Amino acid sequence: MTWRKIRAVRPFEYIRATDVAQAVATAIADPAASYLAGGTTQVDLMKDGVLSPEVLIDITRLPLRGVSADGHLVRVGALTTMEELAADPVVTERLPVVRESLLLAASPQLRNMATVAGNLLQRTRCRYYRDLSCACNKRIPGSGCAALTGHHRMHAVLGTSEDCIATHASDLAVALVALDAVVHVRGAVGERAVPLTEFYLVPGDTPDRENVLGPGELITSVEVPLLPEGARSGYLKVRDRASYEFALASAAVALVVTDGVIRDVRIALGGLATIPWRARAAEDVLRGAPVTREAFAAAAEAALSGAAPRPGNAFKVELGKRTVVRALSTVTGWPE
Ligand code: FAD
Ligand code: SF4
Repeated sequence: MTWRKIRAVRPFEYIRATDVAQAVATAIADPAASYLAGGTTQVDLMKDGVLSPEVLIDITRLPLRGVSADGHLVRVGALTTMEELAADPVVTERLPVVRESLLLAASPQLRNMATVAGNLLQRTRCRYYRDLSCACNKRIPGSGCAALTGHHRMHAVLGTSEDCIATHASDLAVALVALDAVVHVRGAVGERAVPLTEFYLVPGDTPDRENVLGPGELITSVEVPLLPEGARSGYLKVRDRASYEFALASAAVALVVTDGVIRDVRIALGGLATIPWRARAAEDVLRGAPVTREAFAAAAEAALSGAAPRPGNAFKVELGKRTVVRALSTVTGWPE
């Protein structure tokens, strides 16, 4: 039997926001405020004492929910649930990589609560981050990193630093990074748009800073460019058990192939890196190459070439390469 310490959640003020401007103004006015969407990350971390906001701004009634498509892109409201996005007909037909990344995540119950923006902003699953008795630079800057010498089988081999090796846990973010999605954000100076490839920050010596959001900034929507007609895409997630588990390694791939030649390709990796990882070197190897196992293997080598494994997670380098090859093979139908 394992025992889990139950802590009392620190008292906080609860505010239900009724419009976007009010929510943002309230958050900007109080640095100790946090947003609450589906609550599947935020409430867990409050119960564990990892997060202790003094004000919780419930944004679930804001008009930021729904999916719409025009000829070139899909617009996703920040409060759209994971399940709603996965069920959207345009996403199902034109962006299977997004649908698969969603349906391979969490559980149906969680996906019905969890929102798209909350998913992109979920925190790492590093066990030391969630254990207040352990050193963690992400939780308390300058306190050290227990994972470096501790259990780090699930941890990152790409984008790491001497201060943090935690993986980013979102599956959806991996698919959206591959697709060049753009995040729309509302803050003190109005609206701005940030490409998701520039949204996340590798840990460096400030692992507590995970993304480019400023104080009080609210994600309002995400724009996902549609893939060209005829493009193929898919998400492969390798994990310790077949459901309800985070990725050991994952790959989101999208390709345009004509006459056996790869004309366009996007690859992003999950479970292997500190941020959803765009594998541009692998894309460069494949663009203009024939659809062959040799080309896929060369791309996989390029994707993992910068890996910095530790003793407990060295297996992830080979696993990552095999994940890339298998994702590309599955999506292109090679060999048939
Ligand atoms: P919340 O918990 O409400 O918020 C999360 C964070 O985002 C908070 O810091 C909050 O302040 C902030 N936030 C929320 N919305 C906004 C906004 N619009 N603007 C600015 N800040 C905002 N995820 C996966 O990808 N793959 C998995 O396999 C997976 N498995 C899981 C298994 C379990 C048991 C659990 C509990 C979670 C799992 N998750 C997984 C994570 C889950 O998908 C996230 O918890 C969820 O998507 C978070 O969304 P939410 O709406 O509940 O966010
Ligand atoms: Fe904290 Fe990052 Fe180290 Fe985990 S890997 S203990 S999140 S600093």
